[in-house]
Amino acid sequence: MIEPTASAAAQPPIIEFRDVSKIWNPGTRDEFKALDHLSFTIADIPGRGEFVAIIGPSGCGKSTALNLLAGFHGIFPPTSGEILVHGEPVAGPGADRGMIFQKYSSFPQMTVLENVELGLKLNRGQNRLTAAEIRGMAREWVGRVGLSKHEHKYPHQLSGGQQQRVAIARALVLKPRIVLMDEPFSALDEPTRIDMQQLIVALWTEVQATVLIVTHSIIEAVYLGDRVWIFSPAPGRIAREIQDVPLPVPGVPPLIMQKSKSFLEVVDRVAEIFQKIEAGETA
Ligand code: ADP
Repeated sequence: MIEPTASAAAQPPIIEFRDVSKIWNPGTRDEFKALDHLSFTIADIPGRGEFVAIIGPSGCGKSTALNLLAGFHGIFPPTSGEILVHGEPVAGPGADRGMIFQKYSSFPQMTVLENVELGLKLNRGQNRLTAAEIRGMAREWVGRVGLSKHEHKYPHQLSGGQQQRVAIARALVLKPRIVLMDEPFSALDEPTRIDMQQLIVALWTEVQATVLIVTHSIIEAVYLGDRVWIFSPAPGRIAREIQDVPLPVPGVPPLIMQKSKSFLEVVDRVAEIFQKIEAGETA
């Protein structure tokens, strides 16, 4: 008899939320339940991470869920429940999870290259990289996000889109298995936002990380997500998962795809479900 090998099926999920609740300011007048028994798993698909897009009414706990998963001080831990990454309970921030925020998060006194190097330098105890290797990796990522000509500039000398490119390079140079993005393109004008979507699709195919993106744009969620989760009004939980969304087609510019009839039909369908959930109806 052939013994089953440790197959992919035996792998723990890359992310698991088990009955996660978060109550802000418990026991005070400002007590607010942001998440209520949120449970989900995202499988670790070998050689390919999943892209999950999260939409939901404002204030329904989307950022709270992402920040808890990131293990951020002041937000972590959940009031109850457990968060696991690769089957291990999250205890705080970790290099396995990278975060890209809406606000430009680079250090103003450092150049583009120095900003991208920083995480690698801080992790030197673990990664054992030499200064030259760190410089090489940072240069490579600055190039991948299209900023080679700007590597010695400071953040204030860059446009909003370029600053978000720095944030993407800073996160991805660390090769996180999980990338968390909280409204990463909300502050950008529409053409820049479309450029960034194209960049993310190209990079994601390469880094094969699992991505969770919170966005208020249904079009963006349908375009980027392998699946779309619609959160209920607070306390947040996944009210609906939509799986059959069109995937970005390599070589087809986002704007062309997002104008196609079949794409817009899915957007309309998701928008309709979203509105019902927002209004508290069962969708
Ligand atoms: P979303 O991302 O869905 O818009 P958030 O997760 O940011 O929602 O917030 C959910 C609720 O939790 C909001 O009512 C918000 O005011 C509250 N909240 C978020 N962070 C904190 C905090 N640090 N302290 C107190 N309340 C918070």
